[in-house]
Amino acid sequence: MPRIVSLLLDRDGTVIEDRHYLKDPQGVAVLPHVAQALAALQATGVRLFLVSNQSGVGRGYFTAADVLACNQALAAQLDPSGVQFADSVFCPHAPEQDCTCRKPSSGMWETLQARHGLTPATTVMVGDKPEDMAFAANAGLAGRFLVATGKGQATIERFGLQEQLQQHSFIAQPAAPELPQYILEDFSALPQAIALLEALPA
Ligand SMILES: [Mg+2]
Ligand SMILES: [Zn+2]
Repeated sequence: MPRIVSLLLDRDGTVIEDRHYLKDPQGVAVLPHVAQALAALQATGVRLFLVSNQSGVGRGYFTAADVLACNQALAAQLDPSGVQFADSVFCPHAPEQDCTCRKPSSGMWETLQARHGLTPATTVMVGDKPEDMAFAANAGLAGRFLVATGKGQATIERFGLQEQLQQHSFIAQPAAPELPQYILEDFSALPQAIALLEALPA
C-alpha cells in the first residue's frame, strides 16, 4: 500500500467527547491520547481534516456559527501540541433534507478532494459510527478505522465486533461498508493501525 498522507477525522465521539448536540464551546473536551497521536502523525507529514455531521443546524438546535465556535475551541485545545487541521468541513443538514454531504454520503470527501487534491488511495478515515465507515467506503478510501470512544462501543455491540477489538484483527476487506478494517481502543493505537494498513500488499 502507498503511504497514508491524509487523515479524515470525525469530530464528536472521535476527537472530542460526545455531547448530545454540542453547541457550547465550553463543552469541547479533547479525548485522551488524541493530541499526542495526531501530533506524531502530523510530524511524519500526514495532513489532518475534520469531517463532521452537524444535523443540529438543520434541526434548528444551533447555528453554523456555533459549530465554528466549537471547532475553534477544539483548535485552541490542540494548539499547544502543535496539531492543526488543514481543513474542517461539516454537513449542516437534517437527515430528511436528503443532501449529498451527510455521512455516509461522500459529498464532504469530494469537497476536500477538490480543495486539497487528496487521493483516496492515500487517505484514512477514523470515526465512532457505522456512518463514518460507510462514508469511507463510499469515498473509496484506503482505510477506515472505528474508535471505541463516543458511540464506538455501541457500534461494536451492534455489529458484534468485540472479538475484532480484543484480538486486534485487521480485516483488509470488511464484509459490509458499515464495518471497520480495524478497531482502536483509543487514539494511542492509531499510528500502529496506519502502519498495519501501509504494510498490506498493494
Ligand atoms: Mg461521531
Ligand atoms: Zn448535508
